[in-house]
Amino acid sequence: MPTDFESELLRQRNEMVQIQLRKRGIHDERVLNAMAMVPRHEFVPWQLQREAYRDSPVPIGEGQTISQPYIVAYMLQALRLHFEDEVLEVGTGTGYAAAVMSRIVREVYTIERFETLAGDARKMFAQLGYENVHVIVGDGSEGYASAAPYDAIVVAAAAPRVPEALLSQLKKGSRMVLPVGSSELQQLLLVTKHDGEVDRRYLDACRFVPLIGKQGYAVEH
Ligand code: SAM
Repeated sequence: MPTDFESELLRQRNEMVQIQLRKRGIHDERVLNAMAMVPRHEFVPWQLQREAYRDSPVPIGEGQTISQPYIVAYMLQALRLHFEDEVLEVGTGTGYAAAVMSRIVREVYTIERFETLAGDARKMFAQLGYENVHVIVGDGSEGYASAAPYDAIVVAAAAPRVPEALLSQLKKGSRMVLPVGSSELQQLLLVTKHDGEVDRRYLDACRFVPLIGKQGYAVEH
């Protein structure tokens, strides 16, 4: 029997899907189903579990945040994920977005610069039995060449420009979504790699923590 607290979290999760996502135009059923399935509250620090389903980012330690549910859904929907895809995420954070993707695609590789965050995410994937997520510690601005090329790449930290390494690790015909701009304000950019050319389409304004690394920002702002 679920406790009252667990039932309340489940109610909040369903409400998040209906009100924050579906009503605001998220229509990809695979994304909606995955977000209805993954227990977001397990990925936030335990003191903030009651805040997990609110319509905003939540602090997660190391000065980082777990993104607002809507932005996670919006980015994943833009990627048009398919069940056979192999996907790279840059910026594991809590592991929540990787967990959501793992319910949609075949394999998820997720790279994080903080060992602490990567370790906690790895433990949570093991606890939930999500075996198709692989956590790597390193500078994700250079991608993760060992498992490249990818069918899709999602970057959860703001880059000054599109990192060349990430472009080179995308398959032809594949898509990448990332926030690009200054450390204060960015635009979400959807990049599609075609044979010999790259199509760039700007989506909404957004605000992410900076991508710190060789092909990102040099230092934390
Ligand atoms: N997707 C995460 C989740 O679901 O919790 C939220 C990601 S948080 C907005 C951005 C993350 O990117 C932070 O954990 C930060 O440490 C990480 N990050 C920043 N620069 C990075 C880099 N060069 N390589 C890997 N991770 C990086």
